[in-house]
Amino acid sequence: MALVDYVESSSSASEGEDPLSNTSPAVSQKRFALPTAETLLGCKKPKPEEVVDDPAQHGGRIRSFKHERGNWATYIYVPAGACEEQLEDFQAEAMAKLAPEVELTANESLHLSLSRTVVLQYHQIEEFSRSLKTALHSCTGFSASLQGLRIYTNDEGTRTFVAAQLDAAFTEKTTKLLKPIDSVMLEYRLPPFYDPPSFHVSLLWCVGDQTKVLTEKLDELQQLLANQETLPLAVTEVHLKCGNKDFSYSLK
Ligand code: AMP
Repeated sequence: MALVDYVESSSSASEGEDPLSNTSPAVSQKRFALPTAETLLGCKKPKPEEVVDDPAQHGGRIRSFKHERGNWATYIYVPAGACEEQLEDFQAEAMAKLAPEVELTANESLHLSLSRTVVLQYHQIEEFSRSLKTALHSCTGFSASLQGLRIYTNDEGTRTFVAAQLDAAFTEKTTKLLKPIDSVMLEYRLPPFYDPPSFHVSLLWCVGDQTKVLTEKLDELQQLLANQETLPLAVTEVHLKCGNKDFSYSLK
């Protein structure tokens, strides 16, 4: 099957718009009488589809890298759609169980990461997506499942995660899928995935390194997850998330 890709993105509303098209005749005449800096130097349009950071949209999380205009937070992942409802049930139960001792937040858009979160420049996005599509060209999809919980922290120790691990039976196949992805990352001088990788779907997070307290609660949480039936994960497409864009590549 040929690889297909699509992109969902929200473009800047002012992209391509003539900034003077809505001016009234009176205003236009005024401009002829006394040229403004805009008419002499040209209007400063927003860059195409530029993303402006809003910390309120990421729950006040601490960034791992400085946000600068033109920097697009990027990661590669497999969506966890097949067991999303079960995982959402678990999230709600776990949050209720641990409150108020630990203040957990539910992860949105549940997924299994196949890359670290890196930064791409706007002009690199299309080419990076093409490279990834080519690299994944001969990769085959498979059905996997999640099994058991584990606690992770980010590299800086500023966030702690409760995650459902990929069943160890699928580590080999997933590591095979990781190879072409890591090659593309290296091609773009970006860091490869963790070695050894520990594939998982993050479900809940909290600020700071709370490994100790969450590890103590792991058995209790594990019980809640055990109430769920098998947690299927369809590894049939790989996604590239780049700011507000999402590309998808179907596997064979
Ligand atoms: P994610 O939900 O994929 O962003 O993963 C949550 C965190 O797990 C990330 O911030 C990673 O830094 C962290 N992590 C720590 N060790 C590993 C590992 N061996 N493999 C994958 N992720 C890891």
